[in-house]
Amino acid sequence: MPVETLYRDDFYLSTAEAVVTALHEDGGIELDRTCFYATSGGQPGDTGFLERADGTKIALGQTRHGATKDIVIHVPLEGEQQPLVGEKLVLHIDWQRRYRLMRMHTACHLLSVVCPYPITGAAVGEEESRVDFDMSETIDKDEVTAKLMELVHQNHPAYVQWITDEELIANPGIVKSKNVRPPLGLGRVSLVCIGENSSVDSQPCGGTHVSETQEVGAIHIAKIEKKGKENRRFRIRFGEPGAEV
Ligand SMILES: [Zn+2]
Repeated sequence: MPVETLYRDDFYLSTAEAVVTALHEDGGIELDRTCFYATSGGQPGDTGFLERADGTKIALGQTRHGATKDIVIHVPLEGEQQPLVGEKLVLHIDWQRRYRLMRMHTACHLLSVVCPYPITGAAVGEEESRVDFDMSETIDKDEVTAKLMELVHQNHPAYVQWITDEELIANPGIVKSKNVRPPLGLGRVSLVCIGENSSVDSQPCGGTHVSETQEVGAIHIAKIEKKGKENRRFRIRFGEPGAEV
């Protein structure tokens, strides 16, 4: 059953009330609405817990999409209680983890500004993220870190603009990813914009991001690996450079 994806309109929503609409054989829970982000576009799904009326908690190990993107399945950890269809629950995201993912995800966008090459892959993580670029140039990682931190310190606003699927299809040039397909199929696509009037960047992305670049905090490029003649893998980590050798 299609779910109302509350996180799409408010990345900072960490709790909400919802009603169970379906249960899967493997324990997966569907809700009428959710603030839980489901794994997609390189960003891992949320963890956290669902709270029952009597206060007991159902811990979630992951959130993923079903057969289509408008289905979100909340997957409990082994041995957790199963709610009933029609039961009202209070949803709680593991906010500390999600906020780190939002900071990291935004950092990946900033990296694509500093390195304006086609993206061939990306994975957002709590500790480290990686972005693969189709490029053959050699870049100094400290130089990239300095440019990234400049964008962080300039504290640009980051916000979402909605466009229709048709508008995106008519403007293929705004898609930076070579292999990752933009989040089509929901009728509207979120364009993640950075800077006043998208002065820094805009690209289609269905993930969750912070609302100003300052929130990203200290990040650095820990490593740039050569993956074939025309592929470079950048690893972004939190903190000041030099923590790893
Ligand atoms: Zn994004």
